[in-house]
Amino acid sequence: MDQIRIGRFIAETRKAQHLTQRQLADLLSVSDKTISKWECGKGLPEVSLMLPLCETLHITVNDLLSGERLPDRDYRERAEQNMVDLIKENEENKKRMILSIICGVITIIACCSLIVIASFLPLPTAARIALILFTVLTAAAGIGAAAVLEVKAGYYECPHCGALFVPTMADYIKGYHTLTKRRLPCPQCGKTGMCRHRIVR
Ligand SMILES: [Zn+2]
Repeated sequence: MDQIRIGRFIAETRKAQHLTQRQLADLLSVSDKTISKWECGKGLPEVSLMLPLCETLHITVNDLLSGERLPDRDYRERAEQNMVDLIKENEENKKRMILSIICGVITIIACCSLIVIASFLPLPTAARIALILFTVLTAAAGIGAAAVLEVKAGYYECPHCGALFVPTMADYIKGYHTLTKRRLPCPQCGKTGMCRHRIVR
C-alpha cells in the first residue's frame, strides 16, 4: 500500500472538489490534522472512514487504495491486489506483536539470570558492579525493542469516537497503561482516554 501516493491522490481530488482540508475534515467529523496526516502519506484513513471519504471525493475505495482513478479494464485486478495488500498489512502487524512478546520474555529471562549470577557468585566488587550495569543495559535495550515492535503492531482504539490509530512513540512512552489498554490522545477527536490495543483493523 503506497501511502504517499494515496495521500497525493486525496489532496488532488479534494482540491478538484474545491474543498479546503478544514472543510473536508468537517464533512467527515475528523480534525484537519487527520486530513493533513493522510495527505502527507503518514497514515491511511480508518476503514470506517473510507466510504464517506470516497463519497465526498467522488471516487471509489478501489481508486483510493490504488492512489489513482482506475480505468474500467484494470478495475477487478486492482481490487484483488488492494484486498491482498490490506490483509498482508494485518498479518505483518500480528508478526510484530509476537516478536515483541518473544523479545520481552527473552529480556526477562536474561535479566533474571544475570541478577542471580551477580548476587550469588563470589565475584570481586568491580566485576559485580559491571555485571549489574550490564543487566540494567540489557533490560533497557530489551524493553525498548519490545516497545518499538509493539507500537508498530496494530492500532489503538479511541474509547470516545472509535477511531483506530497508531500513536507516536512519544505519546506511547508517556501513556499510563494496563495489559491491554494505554492512555493516549486520539488524533481524530482530540480526547485522551484509555485506548484498547487491537492487532487487526
Ligand atoms: Zn477519538
